[in-house]
Amino acid sequence: MGRTLKRKGILFVVIGPSGSGKSTLCSRLVREFDRDLHYSISVTSRSPREGEVDGTSYHFVSREEFLARRDRGEFFEWEETHGNLYGTLRATLENGINSGHDLLFQIDIRGAMTMKKNFPDNTVAVFVIPPSFEALRERLVARSPVAQAELERRFETARQEYETLQGLHGNKGSIDYLLLNSSLEDAYAQIRAIVIAERSRYGRMDKGSVVEFCRVGGS
Ligand code: ADP
Ligand code: 5GP
Repeated sequence: MGRTLKRKGILFVVIGPSGSGKSTLCSRLVREFDRDLHYSISVTSRSPREGEVDGTSYHFVSREEFLARRDRGEFFEWEETHGNLYGTLRATLENGINSGHDLLFQIDIRGAMTMKKNFPDNTVAVFVIPPSFEALRERLVARSPVAQAELERRFETARQEYETLQGLHGNKGSIDYLLLNSSLEDAYAQIRAIVIAERSRYGRMDKGSVVEFCRVGGS
Protein backbone atom coordinates (compact mmCIF):
# COMPACT_ATOMS: atom_id res chain seq x y z
CA MET A 1 0.00 0.00 0.00
CA GLY A 2 1.18 3.55 -0.76
CA ARG A 3 2.11 6.07 1.87
CA THR A 4 -0.75 7.93 3.53
CA LEU A 5 -0.90 11.22 5.35
CA LYS A 6 -1.62 10.83 9.02
CA ARG A 7 -4.42 12.98 10.41
CA LYS A 8 -6.74 13.40 13.36
CA GLY A 9 -9.90 11.27 13.48
CA ILE A 10 -13.18 12.93 12.54
CA LEU A 11 -16.50 12.62 14.36
CA PHE A 12 -19.19 12.82 11.65
CA VAL A 13 -22.52 13.60 13.29
CA VAL A 14 -25.71 13.15 11.28
CA ILE A 15 -28.76 14.97 12.64
CA GLY A 16 -32.32 15.41 11.37
CA PRO A 17 -35.95 14.54 12.01
CA SER A 18 -37.03 10.94 12.34
CA GLY A 19 -37.70 9.77 8.77
CA SER A 20 -35.42 12.33 7.10
CA GLY A 21 -33.13 9.56 5.83
CA LYS A 22 -30.28 9.51 8.35
CA SER A 23 -30.10 5.71 8.71
CA THR A 24 -30.32 5.18 4.97
CA LEU A 25 -27.44 7.58 4.32
CA CYS A 26 -25.35 6.34 7.26
CA SER A 27 -25.65 2.66 6.36
CA ARG A 28 -24.55 3.42 2.83
CA LEU A 29 -21.57 5.38 4.11
CA VAL A 30 -20.37 2.60 6.40
CA ARG A 31 -20.75 0.11 3.58
CA GLU A 32 -18.68 2.21 1.22
CA PHE A 33 -16.06 3.40 3.74
CA ASP A 34 -16.05 0.15 5.70
CA ARG A 35 -12.33 0.14 6.53
CA ASP A 36 -12.03 3.49 8.25
CA LEU A 37 -15.48 4.86 9.08
CA HIS A 38 -17.06 3.14 12.06
CA TYR A 39 -20.67 3.56 13.17
CA SER A 40 -21.23 4.48 16.81
CA ILE A 41 -24.01 2.25 18.12
CA SER A 42 -26.01 4.16 20.71
CA VAL A 43 -27.79 2.65 23.68
CA THR A 44 -31.55 3.21 23.85
CA SER A 45 -34.49 2.33 26.05
CA ARG A 46 -36.88 2.32 23.08
CA SER A 47 -38.19 -0.96 21.70
CA PRO A 48 -36.72 -2.28 18.44
CA ARG A 49 -38.67 -1.50 15.27
CA GLU A 50 -39.45 -4.23 12.80
CA GLY A 51 -36.17 -5.36 11.25
CA GLU A 52 -33.92 -3.64 13.82
CA VAL A 53 -31.31 -5.96 15.25
CA ASP A 54 -29.85 -5.54 18.74
CA GLY A 55 -26.20 -4.48 18.52
CA THR A 56 -26.52 -3.24 14.94
CA SER A 57 -28.74 -0.16 14.89
CA TYR A 58 -28.79 0.23 18.68
CA HIS A 59 -28.04 -1.61 21.89
CA PHE A 60 -31.59 -2.05 23.18
CA VAL A 61 -31.91 -2.04 26.96
CA SER A 62 -34.66 -1.48 29.54
CA ARG A 63 -35.16 1.98 30.99
CA GLU A 64 -33.85 0.68 34.33
CA GLU A 65 -30.67 -0.64 32.78
CA PHE A 66 -30.16 2.60 30.85
CA LEU A 67 -30.48 4.66 34.04
CA ALA A 68 -28.13 2.35 35.94
CA ARG A 69 -25.51 2.66 33.19
CA ARG A 70 -25.97 6.42 33.10
CA ASP A 71 -25.41 6.56 36.86
CA ARG A 72 -22.19 4.56 36.40
CA GLY A 73 -21.00 7.30 34.01
CA GLU A 74 -20.96 5.09 30.92
CA PHE A 75 -22.40 7.76 28.62
CA PHE A 76 -20.49 10.62 27.06
CA GLU A 77 -23.86 12.25 26.42
CA TRP A 78 -27.48 11.16 26.72
CA GLU A 79 -30.87 12.71 25.98
CA GLU A 80 -34.56 11.86 26.20
CA THR A 81 -36.57 12.00 22.95
CA HIS A 82 -40.16 10.86 22.32
CA GLY A 83 -40.17 9.54 25.91
CA ASN A 84 -37.19 7.24 25.23
CA LEU A 85 -33.60 7.51 26.45
CA TYR A 86 -30.67 7.54 24.03
CA GLY A 87 -26.97 7.71 24.84
CA THR A 88 -23.54 7.65 23.26
CA LEU A 89 -21.11 5.34 25.03
CA ARG A 90 -17.96 6.98 26.32
CA ALA A 91 -16.06 3.79 25.42
CA THR A 92 -17.11 3.99 21.75
CA LEU A 93 -15.87 7.55 21.51
CA GLU A 94 -12.58 6.87 23.28
CA ASN A 95 -11.84 3.69 21.33
CA GLY A 96 -12.65 5.46 18.06
CA ILE A 97 -10.45 8.44 18.79
CA ASN A 98 -7.55 6.27 19.96
CA SER A 99 -7.74 3.89 17.02
CA GLY A 100 -7.42 6.73 14.49
CA HIS A 101 -10.65 5.79 12.71
CA ASP A 102 -13.39 8.24 11.81
CA LEU A 103 -16.67 7.72 13.64
CA LEU A 104 -20.22 8.21 12.40
CA PHE A 105 -22.95 9.21 14.84
CA GLN A 106 -26.67 9.48 14.35
CA ILE A 107 -27.85 11.56 17.27
CA ASP A 108 -30.19 14.44 18.01
CA ILE A 109 -29.27 18.10 17.73
CA ARG A 110 -28.65 18.49 21.50
CA GLY A 111 -26.23 15.55 21.54
CA ALA A 112 -24.56 16.90 18.42
CA MET A 113 -23.96 20.28 20.05
CA THR A 114 -22.45 18.54 23.10
CA MET A 115 -20.08 16.78 20.72
CA LYS A 116 -19.22 20.06 18.99
CA LYS A 117 -18.56 21.78 22.31
CA ASN A 118 -16.23 19.03 23.53
CA PHE A 119 -14.47 18.30 20.24
CA PRO A 120 -14.83 21.48 18.17
CA ASP A 121 -11.99 20.67 15.78
CA ASN A 122 -12.95 17.04 15.22
CA THR A 123 -16.73 17.23 14.88
CA VAL A 124 -18.48 17.68 11.54
CA ALA A 125 -22.25 18.20 11.96
CA VAL A 126 -24.55 17.44 9.03
CA PHE A 127 -28.27 18.21 9.35
CA VAL A 128 -30.46 16.17 6.98
CA ILE A 129 -33.70 17.87 5.99
CA PRO A 130 -36.57 16.26 4.05
CA PRO A 131 -38.20 18.25 1.20
CA SER A 132 -41.45 18.76 3.16
CA PHE A 133 -43.48 17.58 6.14
CA GLU A 134 -45.70 15.73 3.68
CA ALA A 135 -42.71 13.79 2.33
CA LEU A 136 -41.62 13.10 5.91
CA ARG A 137 -45.08 11.70 6.72
CA GLU A 138 -45.02 9.48 3.62
CA ARG A 139 -41.55 8.15 4.43
CA LEU A 140 -42.40 7.44 8.06
CA VAL A 141 -45.58 5.60 7.13
CA ALA A 142 -43.84 3.65 4.36
CA ARG A 143 -40.98 2.59 6.69
CA SER A 144 -43.06 0.74 9.28
CA PRO A 145 -46.52 0.89 10.86
CA VAL A 146 -46.75 3.97 13.07
CA ALA A 147 -49.71 5.14 15.16
CA GLN A 148 -51.08 8.63 14.54
CA ALA A 149 -50.14 9.78 18.05
CA GLU A 150 -46.55 8.57 17.54
CA LEU A 151 -46.41 10.36 14.18
CA GLU A 152 -47.54 13.61 15.82
CA ARG A 153 -44.92 13.15 18.54
CA ARG A 154 -42.19 12.76 15.94
CA PHE A 155 -43.43 15.86 14.07
CA GLU A 156 -43.38 17.88 17.28
CA THR A 157 -39.76 16.83 17.89
CA ALA A 158 -38.97 17.73 14.26
CA ARG A 159 -40.47 21.21 14.78
CA GLN A 160 -38.35 21.70 17.88
CA GLU A 161 -35.21 20.60 16.03
CA TYR A 162 -36.03 22.98 13.16
CA GLU A 163 -36.37 25.81 15.65
CA THR A 164 -32.97 25.01 17.13
CA LEU A 165 -31.52 24.71 13.63
CA GLN A 166 -32.79 28.16 12.64
CA GLY A 167 -31.51 29.65 15.88
CA LEU A 168 -28.04 28.29 15.12
CA HIS A 169 -27.84 30.00 11.71
CA GLY A 170 -24.73 32.14 11.55
CA ASN A 171 -23.36 30.52 14.69
CA LYS A 172 -19.88 29.33 13.82
CA GLY A 173 -19.03 25.98 15.34
CA SER A 174 -22.55 24.58 15.21
CA ILE A 175 -24.09 23.02 12.09
CA ASP A 176 -21.57 22.63 9.28
CA TYR A 177 -23.77 21.28 6.48
CA LEU A 178 -27.48 21.33 5.65
CA LEU A 179 -28.29 18.43 3.36
CA LEU A 180 -31.59 18.33 1.49
CA ASN A 181 -32.66 14.72 1.08
CA SER A 182 -35.03 14.99 -1.84
CA SER A 183 -33.41 12.62 -4.30
CA LEU A 184 -31.62 9.91 -2.34
CA GLU A 185 -28.89 9.59 -4.97
CA ASP A 186 -28.14 13.35 -4.86
CA ALA A 187 -28.17 13.38 -1.06
CA TYR A 188 -25.81 10.42 -0.89
CA ALA A 189 -23.46 11.99 -3.44
CA GLN A 190 -23.35 15.10 -1.23
CA ILE A 191 -22.70 13.37 2.08
CA ARG A 192 -20.06 11.20 0.44
CA ALA A 193 -18.39 14.36 -0.90
CA ILE A 194 -18.47 15.88 2.59
CA VAL A 195 -16.66 12.85 4.07
CA ILE A 196 -14.00 12.94 1.37
CA ALA A 197 -13.47 16.72 1.52
CA GLU A 198 -13.35 16.86 5.32
CA ARG A 199 -10.69 14.15 5.30
CA SER A 200 -8.51 16.38 3.13
CA ARG A 201 -8.56 19.45 5.36
CA TYR A 202 -5.00 20.61 5.87
CA GLY A 203 -5.67 21.57 9.48
CA ARG A 204 -6.39 17.91 10.32
CA MET A 205 -3.06 16.65 9.04
CA ASP A 206 -0.38 15.55 11.43
CA LYS A 207 2.54 18.00 11.12
CA GLY A 208 5.18 15.27 11.24
CA SER A 209 3.45 13.42 8.44
CA VAL A 210 3.34 16.55 6.29
CA VAL A 211 7.04 17.19 6.92
CA GLU A 212 7.81 13.63 5.87
CA PHE A 213 5.94 14.02 2.59
CA CYS A 214 7.58 17.37 1.87
CA ARG A 215 11.13 16.06 2.34
CA VAL A 216 12.94 16.76 -0.92
CA GLY A 217 14.94 13.84 -2.19
CA GLY A 218 13.86 11.64 0.72
CA SER A 219 12.63 8.10 0.33
P1 ADP B 1 -34.21 8.22 9.77
O1 ADP B 1 -33.04 7.32 10.03
O2 ADP B 1 -33.81 9.65 9.61
O3 ADP B 1 -35.32 8.07 10.76
P2 ADP B 1 -34.62 6.47 7.44
O4 ADP B 1 -33.27 6.42 6.83
O5 ADP B 1 -35.09 5.28 8.20
O6 ADP B 1 -34.81 7.79 8.34
O7 ADP B 1 -35.63 6.80 6.26
C1 ADP B 1 -37.04 6.79 6.46
C2 ADP B 1 -37.70 6.10 5.26
O8 ADP B 1 -37.57 6.95 4.13
C3 ADP B 1 -37.05 4.78 4.90
O9 ADP B 1 -38.06 3.87 4.54
C4 ADP B 1 -36.15 5.12 3.69
O10 ADP B 1 -36.02 4.04 2.81
C5 ADP B 1 -36.93 6.27 3.05
N1 ADP B 1 -36.08 7.28 2.35
C6 ADP B 1 -34.89 7.77 2.74
N2 ADP B 1 -34.46 8.70 1.86
C7 ADP B 1 -35.40 8.80 0.90
C8 ADP B 1 -35.54 9.60 -0.28
N3 ADP B 1 -34.61 10.48 -0.64
N4 ADP B 1 -36.65 9.44 -1.02
C9 ADP B 1 -37.61 8.56 -0.65
N5 ADP B 1 -37.55 7.77 0.45
C10 ADP B 1 -36.47 7.90 1.23
P1 5GP C 1 -35.13 6.92 16.61
O1 5GP C 1 -36.00 6.46 17.72
O2 5GP C 1 -35.92 7.48 15.44
O3 5GP C 1 -34.11 5.90 16.18
O4 5GP C 1 -34.27 8.15 17.17
C1 5GP C 1 -34.89 9.25 17.77
C2 5GP C 1 -33.86 10.38 17.95
O5 5GP C 1 -32.85 10.01 18.89
C3 5GP C 1 -33.13 10.72 16.65
O6 5GP C 1 -33.03 12.13 16.54
C4 5GP C 1 -31.77 10.10 16.86
O7 5GP C 1 -30.78 10.73 16.10
C5 5GP C 1 -31.59 10.36 18.34
N1 5GP C 1 -30.51 9.55 18.95
C6 5GP C 1 -30.16 8.28 18.67
N2 5GP C 1 -29.11 7.90 19.40
C7 5GP C 1 -28.75 8.97 20.16
C8 5GP C 1 -27.72 9.21 21.13
O8 5GP C 1 -26.89 8.35 21.45
N3 5GP C 1 -27.70 10.44 21.69
C9 5GP C 1 -28.59 11.42 21.39
N4 5GP C 1 -28.45 12.60 21.97
N5 5GP C 1 -29.58 11.24 20.49
C10 5GP C 1 -29.67 10.02 19.88
